[in-house]
Amino acid sequence: MALRDQINRHIAELSPYEPGKPLEELAREFGITDAVKLASNESPLGPSPKAVEAVREAAGSLHRYPDGASFELRARLAERLGVGGDQLVFGSGSDEVIELLAKTLLGVGDEVVYAWPSFAMYPIVTRGMGATPIQVPLDAGLAHDLSAMAQAVSERTKLVIVCNPNNPTGTSVGAEAFDRFLDRLPERVVVAVDEAYLEFAQRADMPDALAWVRRRPGVIALRTFSKLHGLAGLRVGYGVTGAELAGYLERARHPFNVNRLAEVGALAALDDDEHIRATLENNRRGLAYLGSEFDSMGIEWWPSDTNFVLARTGADAHDRLLREGVIVRPMAGFGMPDCIRVSVGTPEENERFAKALRRIREAA
Ligand SMILES: *Cc1c(COP(=O)(O)O)cnc(C)c1O
Repeated sequence: MALRDQINRHIAELSPYEPGKPLEELAREFGITDAVKLASNESPLGPSPKAVEAVREAAGSLHRYPDGASFELRARLAERLGVGGDQLVFGSGSDEVIELLAKTLLGVGDEVVYAWPSFAMYPIVTRGMGATPIQVPLDAGLAHDLSAMAQAVSERTKLVIVCNPNNPTGTSVGAEAFDRFLDRLPERVVVAVDEAYLEFAQRADMPDALAWVRRRPGVIALRTFSKLHGLAGLRVGYGVTGAELAGYLERARHPFNVNRLAEVGALAALDDDEHIRATLENNRRGLAYLGSEFDSMGIEWWPSDTNFVLARTGADAHDRLLREGVIVRPMAGFGMPDCIRVSVGTPEENERFAKALRRIREAA
């Protein structure tokens, strides 16, 4: 019997997640050693220096298992968010919390409703459990079509995911539309609101997912330390939900899924107001700069509530930018072959990107 026949079919049929190309790969492939990476929505200002210091200090205790309950981080976040400690579930990135939801809720025949294009992990975790993704196309403005999503909910729907703001389009839905949408959904359906980019959103009427968490037991807000806090390499994120659902997710969780360094780093980053302020300021300026550069090149782009921009740069822009030493995310896998997603960098990185884009367009 072949090995393949032994493999769980739901897993064998998956295509692995394609991450942004690492800088090291560009050095190996093209001999470019000064490349800039604007492909994974990482923080251009780096991690909080306070987090780095906390991680350094904790390194001496690496022979000890972490605190499996993430006691300090839990207490601090519960206080900040005004929820009980038993309403928080931590993961190795919010990716893992999404996976815990899938493991906890889904089986063969169950359906998961989410918008598309959206975060690439949603189909992976859904299919991985043998469940069926129901992908609802974004509207003409590339925002969630919430009424079409409500219509897509069936008897078999276990989970609905709203990525707000949405990756990879940068669009968001406002409070009124969001509230109307949740009012239409049956209470038995679990609703995950993926708020990985929440802090970057500039619209005044962002939905209050935590208010819904208080109101309805099956709503979970997903947050991460990977984006605003610049700790993508540490891997820590969390869900905020009712104590009952949190309890089920806790049963599915590995006891030491959030490591010691991740916990202390996250705790320190949370209170580094100066670093947060600088990161948000850099992002605002960077978004404005990229928007004006796209405008001046006559390139269509979508206003963003995140730390990245989707732009219609032409079909081969991604590969040609690579040769210029600029790594962005190609969108062909999302059915948008003539678009790229570029993360906001430092002012120098943004300029390097804009100049490279001009060069490849003039050469075309
Ligand atoms: C980056 C991202 C996450 C989470 O990333 P982690 O590093 O696993 O915390 C979740 N959802 C979306 C939409 C993201 O872009």
